[in-house]
Amino acid sequence: MHIGSVPLGGDAPVVVQSMTSTYTYDIDATVAQIRALAAKGCDVVRVATPDKRDTAALPAILEQSPVPIVADVHFHFERALEAIEAGIHKIRLNPGNITDRNQVDRVIRACRERGIPIRVGVNEGSIVERKDKETRAGEMSALSSDRHAHMIRLMVQKLEDYLRIFDENDFGDVVISAKSIDPRICIDAYRAISERFDFPLHLGVTHAGPPETGRIRSVSALAALLADGIGDTIRISYAADPIFEVEDGKELLCVLGMRNRDEPELIACPTCGRIEIDLIKLVAEVRRKLAAIKTPVKVAVMGCVVNGPGEAEGADVAVFAGKGKGIIYVQGEQTRTVSEADMLEALYEEAVAFAEKVERGEAQLSSGGVSIVPPDPLPRADGSIPLPVAKA
Ligand code: SF4
Repeated sequence: MHIGSVPLGGDAPVVVQSMTSTYTYDIDATVAQIRALAAKGCDVVRVATPDKRDTAALPAILEQSPVPIVADVHFHFERALEAIEAGIHKIRLNPGNITDRNQVDRVIRACRERGIPIRVGVNEGSIVERKDKETRAGEMSALSSDRHAHMIRLMVQKLEDYLRIFDENDFGDVVISAKSIDPRICIDAYRAISERFDFPLHLGVTHAGPPETGRIRSVSALAALLADGIGDTIRISYAADPIFEVEDGKELLCVLGMRNRDEPELIACPTCGRIEIDLIKLVAEVRRKLAAIKTPVKVAVMGCVVNGPGEAEGADVAVFAGKGKGIIYVQGEQTRTVSEADMLEALYEEAVAFAEKVERGEAQLSSGGVSIVPPDPLPRADGSIPLPVAKA
């Protein structure tokens, strides 16, 4: 399956998605945000289309977008038809609010004619039946007895019911999702639907909150699922600038080894009672400076020579700080010792020089095999600790 030019499912790399927070009818603002998200590494962007003026803006947005666009459709199936007509790359439908069989059939037929996939996304917030009072009462009562188990059962059942329409239309270009605000429900729901259905899965924890709290909520579920091989596309959703969603989505895939980095990786010690410099400030400054480097150099900033060298193993460029000095290593070789005041600039210079060597083909990035022989931190016979950083 493809969303525009982006492959999805099977052996294709996991796709990072986000969603614009602009009014879609504001073409300039929406295109600017789509471009910013794409520049950060977002593969596919979703836009809200609640109104006819939103779908009317789609041709201009699609023409200027560097990445495929998904139309998020709720309640009004006409928005889906208009988006399809505009050339959208994918449609998202919510079984909780577009239920009329004839309407769903029409959207499916229009998508089939143009080879457009549809995501069927059930969501904890809209899963309970709204119209039929008896069904609603039954579902609410089941949920109140064991919310976790019944929510998962309900999600699978609603997907089964809705997907039957797609099956009867012989339409298989389907992506499915089952989002909850509770990461434990997400984990079990996605495990259940991955066993039950054979469609690509869009992973997400819904309404996770601001990045400061939503990060753990989202990543706890997504990491558990991705590590099990479940999930074909992810959206981390925050109550914040969607740039953070893309940054964290990409980082999650990188740390899980599912995406190659295209920028430096920073390793830093957590600091402890052995620390002798303002390492936290240094780490923040190093992070800011490294943003200028466009090669995935691995840089380590460590607070001492006791555990630092072992923890920094695999780093291309590393600094071990202590007693106002820093020893810099480049791929396991000690290159220089500098004062605390010069540490930031010296580390950055070494990182830039190494990145340039890599770009010229004169050096290779570490693939975890660089071993750093530490300066000897063991006590001498007289009990003194010969920290080379202090002596240099
Ligand atoms: S590297 Fe040194 S200072 Fe940093 S946490 Fe480890 S032992 Fe403590």
